[in-house]
Amino acid sequence: MEQNRRQFIYNTLAGLTTITVGPQLLANTPLLFKRSYESKPWLELSKSAYLHNAAQISKMAGGKPVIAVLKNNAYGLGDVQVAKILNNSTSIASIAVVTDESAIAIGRAGVKKSILLMGDFDFDNGPSLVNGHVILSIFSKDSLKKIQLLSQETKKLVKVALYVDTGLGRMGIPYEQTHTIAQEISKSGGLKITHTFSTLTSPKDFAIRQIHRFETLIKNLNENGISTGLAHLAPSYSLLDLSNSHQDAVRPGILLHGSFPNAKMEKAKEFPLEVSYRLKAPVIRLEKLKAGDTIGFSRFYKVEREEWIATLPIGWADGYDSRAENGAKVLLGNELYKVVNVNSSHTNISLGSETKIKIGDVATLIGPENPEITPAGFAKLIDGNNYLQIQYKESLPKRIYETF
Ligand SMILES: *Cc1c(COP(=O)(O)O)cnc(C)c1O
Repeated sequence: MEQNRRQFIYNTLAGLTTITVGPQLLANTPLLFKRSYESKPWLELSKSAYLHNAAQISKMAGGKPVIAVLKNNAYGLGDVQVAKILNNSTSIASIAVVTDESAIAIGRAGVKKSILLMGDFDFDNGPSLVNGHVILSIFSKDSLKKIQLLSQETKKLVKVALYVDTGLGRMGIPYEQTHTIAQEISKSGGLKITHTFSTLTSPKDFAIRQIHRFETLIKNLNENGISTGLAHLAPSYSLLDLSNSHQDAVRPGILLHGSFPNAKMEKAKEFPLEVSYRLKAPVIRLEKLKAGDTIGFSRFYKVEREEWIATLPIGWADGYDSRAENGAKVLLGNELYKVVNVNSSHTNISLGSETKIKIGDVATLIGPENPEITPAGFAKLIDGNNYLQIQYKESLPKRIYETF
């Protein structure tokens, strides 16, 4: 008997793997099997919020232009999509990214702002970058040689940025060595310095020393007839914390999306930002669980009295922070509900003993609608920070709105 059953399952599975789902089969699919609702999560971006934030950031910096850092796929929100929106902002001077692929994709999407590539590039991509008006960073002697060769091969004047390490210790030419390299650039021809930049650390006393190192370098280079172009130092934290970090332009990332680097920043009240995105997912399952039932692999959530549990098709593999199960909420209709479990591809919500929620209703996991689901409110509820909670997977579809 057992043998037969196994054989049966085997045959069925073997059969299943060979079924080809052709157009004929699809045409005859019963209506019941056609989905009448969304079944995947997505992101929504607000054009007006991004434009508002860019203008506010420039105001925070006393009117200085903004170089928008859209590295890491704009912290998961879509580098190309956000760059296309910011292309219409008069406060934005340039878009800064770390990978050559990102720089090329943004350029190909029709973004007209200059693009500052803060990282390395594949030599094969060199001509596309130069033709796409991408400014290439010189962060070492080798990167200088590579860009000089690119200029010779393309017979083009290549715009470059001097990337200086004033103390972050991560990328760039150590500041004591920058003068020599800058002199070599100005002697060799084919290259034009249009930016000089560095990155500040957060502790104020050290950031002030970094600013001094940077300003001394710029002054010495200029006195020696070497033009340094646009000078910039400040990521979001420093631009809020230290007004002499502003230089010729500021270089924020996270502020553009409507989040402050941390919850306690003074400037937050003076220069309110708008949450620029929503994370949404539909309810794909609705079940009334009994007292004693549990949810999740680790049986993380225990149902104490009968309650409706909704499943959303989103999890930590999509970039939704797994710590949400420690107290985050989501908006469904006009009400907030508690997240009770987050797995790699699923999240469960407790709806209480009675509910009007239906399969297909759409939950907002992050958005501007309620202080508990804003990026900052969410970060607070999960005891996380504003950066780590935005790492959304590139494959999440993005829908662009004029305004929310
Ligand atoms: C990430 C980064 C920024 C922006 O940082 P935020 O904290 O998001 O404002 C600026 N400059 C460099 C070099 C960076 O790597």
